[in-house]
Amino acid sequence: MKTIKMLEEEIKEKECELAELKRRKIKFDCMTQEQRLATKLHERFCHFNHTDQCGWFYCEDDWSQSAQKNYIEKAEKILLIVKYETMLEILSVL
Ligand SMILES: [Zn+2]
Repeated sequence: MKTIKMLEEEIKEKECELAELKRRKIKFDCMTQEQRLATKLHERFCHFNHTDQCGWFYCEDDWSQSAQKNYIEKAEKILLIVKYETMLEILSVL
């Protein structure tokens, strides 16, 4: 059985997780379709080590950085061919 202190600590952890999810949702809502697709492409296809091989997470919100620019360019090219929603469906089966 959990003590009151354990429950309070668990509540704090969950509140922090909720705050982080809200922050990520707000950030996602503010992104363009190209940025959203670039993010999904990076999640799906980047196999580099994120400690020293890919700078995506160093400047996650800076779309002028090379890692972000690389994926934005891919997203822009893809969106000239297929609609965003179609590409999401394609990604879901890859
Ligand atoms: Zn990466």
